[in-house]
Amino acid sequence: CRQIFSKMERTYIMIKPDGVQRGLIGEIVKRFESKGFKLVAMKLTKPSKEHMEEHYVDLKEKKFFPGLIEYMTSGPVCAMVWEGKGAVATGRKMLGATMPSESDPGTIRGDLCIEVGRNICHGSDSVDSANKEIAHWFPEGICEWESCSKAWIY
Ligand code: ADP
Ligand code: MG
Repeated sequence: CRQIFSKMERTYIMIKPDGVQRGLIGEIVKRFESKGFKLVAMKLTKPSKEHMEEHYVDLKEKKFFPGLIEYMTSGPVCAMVWEGKGAVATGRKMLGATMPSESDPGTIRGDLCIEVGRNICHGSDSVDSANKEIAHWFPEGICEWESCSKAWIY
């Protein structure tokens, strides 16, 4: 595997420990595949406390930060990179609002969870964050593959 420059936008999507343990990997992957995004990296990994603190460094002053880190390091997460036009913004829409009570039905959080502290998935909030998060979670790089169906999507 090696990192090859891609013109297509990429986003970092992560299924959190509760999503993995509830058996929701397939459901979440299905939604991104069905939408037409391309899966370019995926692994199950149990992050260290330091790795997770770095991922959420912008939230370190929040009261819920210690609980968030404990939750996020309680089991394996499914780390993924999805590629396609508008992947960052559309990915966030597909996840739904942070607070499950505010996420619309039809979104992943709106359909599948109740608690903000157990909201099953993460998605990059900007192209800049996506690039940082992809480098943080996939320092080994990403497998590049040509999509035979590309012409049907775009
Ligand atoms: P998002 O995941 O939608 O980008 P944030 O970046 O604001 O949301 O927060 C990161 C994660 O921290 C959330 O997905 C959620 O798991 C957790 N979180 C956010 N707000 C709270 C809160 N008030 N109480 C507990 N956990 C929270
Ligand atoms: Mg966020």
